[in-house]
Amino acid sequence: MNSSRKIETALAGLSNFISKEIRSWRKSSFLQYSQIYIDNKTALFEKKRKFNLSEYETLLEPYLSNGYRAISHLAYTRLPSIANEDKIVLMRHDVDHDIVTALKLAEWERRNGICTTYCLLHTAWYYGEFRNGRYRHSQLLADSALALQEMGHEVSWHNNLIALALRSGADPVEVLTDEMAFFRGLGVDLCGSSAHGDILCRELGISNHQIFAECSSKENFNREITNTLDDGKAVSVRLGSVSMRDFGLTYEAYDIALDTYHYDVGGHMRTKKKPTRYRHPFGRPTRTTGSVVGFLTHPVWWDLSE
Ligand SMILES: [Zn+2]
Repeated sequence: MNSSRKIETALAGLSNFISKEIRSWRKSSFLQYSQIYIDNKTALFEKKRKFNLSEYETLLEPYLSNGYRAISHLAYTRLPSIANEDKIVLMRHDVDHDIVTALKLAEWERRNGICTTYCLLHTAWYYGEFRNGRYRHSQLLADSALALQEMGHEVSWHNNLIALALRSGADPVEVLTDEMAFFRGLGVDLCGSSAHGDILCRELGISNHQIFAECSSKENFNREITNTLDDGKAVSVRLGSVSMRDFGLTYEAYDIALDTYHYDVGGHMRTKKKPTRYRHPFGRPTRTTGSVVGFLTHPVWWDLSE
């Protein structure tokens, strides 16, 4: 079955998505969601649509028609060198809760030769259930991750670890250990992380990426953040207490140096020139050669109905 047919099948009935690799997983204990459940979840997003596919094309066109190539974030971090004349587009999709639109977009991108990065949120409904410090994953998650990868895209971790730990008392190290083992066991080459903007983190004035030692500022390193649960129990996490390296995570999306950044946060498309935070060279001699244009979209704002 070719990739296009696979995704059509996936969208027509995600729980029936079949490929050779996935079939073996179907016998496992993954959570099964009915098509009605998936449709009902997705229907909740319809009123949020702000942009359509032709606007997406318009956004990319000035770059793709001028010699830029769209590659995944992971591919970018693995480039041995970047020359001054290199032109690169890095498209990141923070999937959040709208996995169905993400898959549709991924298929459109595949047809158009664009490789992008899909960040799967572990606290989203499609991921599975979290109980007693562990996830029971859904078939939909496994199917989606493999479909995205088979379409040539990168699957990355949309990190909400601080919020999860502060709401549940879970140990971020244990969660990350389990989750990286899950994706790698599935055959997904997951090496990147991007911080999810959870409301609890915003209220506390922190960001999820600060759980990582490699991303925590000196002032925040080892700072204890505490939250009181509904039952009165206090739970806390320490910023910088987890090393990305220990889990095979090689980059945080905000580490990448960009010359231009287009992003749709809050359903408003904005552009920033030369955002300067967290610029890492990823082993290369310089961090600012070439022209690197970053995009961030959240599929929930995009209407891909035909
Ligand atoms: Zn997010």
